[in-house]
Amino acid sequence: MRKTRPVQVKHIQIGGGAPVAIQSMTKTDTSDVGATVAQIEEMVSAGCEIVRLAVPDNDAAIALKAIRKRVPDVPIVADIHFHYKLALMALEAGIDKLRLNPGNIGAHERVREVVRAAQAQKVPIRIGVNGGSLEKDLLKKYGTATPEAMVESAMRHIQILEDLDFTDIIISLKASDVHRTVEAYRLLAQKVDYPFHLGVTEAGTSFSGTVKSSIGLGILLYEGIGDTIRVSLAAEPQEEVRVAWEIVKSLGLRTRGVTVVACPTCGRLDVDNFVGIVTEIERRLAHIEEPLHLSIMGCAVNGPGEAHDSQLGITFGRGVGMIFKDGVPMRKVAGENIVEAFVTETEKLLAEIKSKPQIDSDLSSHGLTQILPTSDKSVPNPR
Ligand code: SF4
Repeated sequence: MRKTRPVQVKHIQIGGGAPVAIQSMTKTDTSDVGATVAQIEEMVSAGCEIVRLAVPDNDAAIALKAIRKRVPDVPIVADIHFHYKLALMALEAGIDKLRLNPGNIGAHERVREVVRAAQAQKVPIRIGVNGGSLEKDLLKKYGTATPEAMVESAMRHIQILEDLDFTDIIISLKASDVHRTVEAYRLLAQKVDYPFHLGVTEAGTSFSGTVKSSIGLGILLYEGIGDTIRVSLAAEPQEEVRVAWEIVKSLGLRTRGVTVVACPTCGRLDVDNFVGIVTEIERRLAHIEEPLHLSIMGCAVNGPGEAHDSQLGITFGRGVGMIFKDGVPMRKVAGENIVEAFVTETEKLLAEIKSKPQIDSDLSSHGLTQILPTSDKSVPNPR
């Protein structure tokens, strides 16, 4: 497992063994404060832990102050290209992290001014190398944006910051295809211990982008590489956040919300409108943040088995759904009423879980006990 140094972004730790943090980027015009704040709030409700905003011009940089005031508890990243003054304005507005390539903001004095301001405010800098915008001399040297070229570009930016005694650094190496992205991160992982922000850039529409990101990020996370992730999709940012959560949940790195195991259906299916039932149940339970494991199975072949591994489960037979709790049959409900009944049972289970104090087993094994809030469900990255 890759050991990385911890970097603090407001209350979220990145690297140093912390859980993989989920981030995304607003798609509104940043200077439209109302629309941007509304989108940030939607992203946070979907589970976004760090929100990045594009700061392309003066108006956007000016808006940061008002945005900061309206979402004071959300870790905000200002994404800046080329303009050091915008970086200074963003820092003054109280943002929590800068995404900026120090080699791209001009004269050394300018870089020093930004770095000193970031240092004074303990604001980290993410160096974001993108395969599509590599330095010309590197493209000439390597012929194209190879993983080696991306790594060399990252090392140049890192050197600039280290020469100024700045080490509060996070790095990303994004390419639009899986192979280059994975190779570039693997190569850089051998050279530095700064935490990595993972992403496959310009991944595509919701469907193709989800597949591409899941493969690219999944390979790296499985290898223990990656400390924070952003899934890039040509879709709403909430969708990016949902996909990111599914990736970390699938790998057992984090837990959050309801996980529904549903069978793919086949000729043995014993109820009408199975897909509609599953979709509606998922939609009705999407607001739940506590981790819950549920199963919905179309017939008795695999239903009871899955129900055994779930907190609540449904198995259909002759159009009727049997609801199981912890693997034990509980009640029978006609197919047309199953959504309502299952949602009610899930809400009841949630209330039961919330009413029980959570004991931290690590502390209790040391003879200490501590009551933890039920909302703190992040599991540490096992790396
Ligand atoms: S649970 Fe039953 S209906 Fe669903 S895929 Fe398996 S055999 Fe088919």
